[in-house]
Amino acid sequence: MKPRLIDKVRQRLAYVLYFNEWHKKEFERAQWLTPIELQHLREKKLKRIVKSAVETVPFYRNLGLNIDFEKFTLSELMKFPVIDKDIIRKNPKLFISEKHKGIISQTSGSSGVPFQFYVPYESASIEKITFSRAWAMGKQYKYSYGDPVVMLRSYSPKKGEPLWYKDTANNFYFLSPFHINPENLSDYLKVIKQSGTKILRGYPSSLYIFTLLLKSNNIKLSGIEVLITSSETLLPHFRDEIEQYFGIEVLDWYGQNENTVTVQQCWAGNYHNNDDYGILELNSQNQIIATSLNNDVMPFIRYNTKDKAIPFDQLQTPCLCGRSFSVPFKAIEGRTEDILIKFDGTLIPTANFSTAMKVFTLIEQYQIIQHIGKDITLNLVTKTKDEVYLQQIKDEITQRLGEVSITIKLVDEIKRDMKTGKVKVAIQEGKIV
Ligand SMILES: [Zn+2]
Repeated sequence: MKPRLIDKVRQRLAYVLYFNEWHKKEFERAQWLTPIELQHLREKKLKRIVKSAVETVPFYRNLGLNIDFEKFTLSELMKFPVIDKDIIRKNPKLFISEKHKGIISQTSGSSGVPFQFYVPYESASIEKITFSRAWAMGKQYKYSYGDPVVMLRSYSPKKGEPLWYKDTANNFYFLSPFHINPENLSDYLKVIKQSGTKILRGYPSSLYIFTLLLKSNNIKLSGIEVLITSSETLLPHFRDEIEQYFGIEVLDWYGQNENTVTVQQCWAGNYHNNDDYGILELNSQNQIIATSLNNDVMPFIRYNTKDKAIPFDQLQTPCLCGRSFSVPFKAIEGRTEDILIKFDGTLIPTANFSTAMKVFTLIEQYQIIQHIGKDITLNLVTKTKDEVYLQQIKDEITQRLGEVSITIKLVDEIKRDMKTGKVKVAIQEGKIV
């Protein structure tokens, strides 16, 4: 299901109305509030979401929770059960507000199964203000709206299309994460230089691959003051390599498509939860349980993201950066399936494959395995066996990986990894570097 035109118009309107100086200032201010002020802000925001949930969302109304709205504190949250994607999937309608309207959104799901949900119309604006704040958490350079940013992510050019494009409205330059190789290096450097950017943003794997390329060509890239990674786990050896080469710290970001919580590293290395955006808990298995403070359309309350964090083993002192935003964990637990290899040897991130698969709505689940020698096996759980449809899927992969042999296997289920219990979307059997 795609967003309706009317909803897109409403979203645009909400964006224009919300993205104003007042909201920008409020967001900027929130990170410097005292802990007590911050707590009051969170209580106010949570109260609104909880009220919407128990009054207008069938699932929560039916639970008959006894919420104390008179003396409301954050601890009222503990009266709510923990939910997850599977519970919502069984009966999505139960989780949608009968009063507050929003726009439909979708993720391909970390386990390769698509997931649909609703977010408020002003969501795009909230996201933009939040990530802009996060990009200003470096030591020296502070990003402000309209500054150039180069992204080694989110762009997959079709055959014959240029390897980069400019999003003029935002002053963002997108470089393909699929073509980082010696042949294209000079073009990439040209775009970065011309943009005048101080920020380089990408998947951990795309920044890592780019760093290896710069290193092997003995090129020192000047002018970059902030490195930002997101959408995949930043593996320790990726971080070490990138930081050593650039001589500055990588600011890593954790968030999910459901827009429940976002966590951002500051220059001092701590992962700060954006406390005015979402409430973060860790359960006994260190899974991240998230509550959105913005979504009253489909409230995500104590939503188990299934992402695992690495907790601190001792109590933390306040962060050197001076922000009161909490620091809920040491890092996100690593995955290793983040890189695939193109026919010509170019290393590419897998993060964009989930975007590619999203358009194939008849796919229930997928898994891409790259064998030694670069051949691909694509395991699919689908609602169709149509040859033409399957060929289209193959074409999408060929567009990204080039002429490697692809075998599609239609299967009943994707097996979970024996060690982690997670379904791996991508498995690399060959050796990376
Ligand atoms: Zn900090």
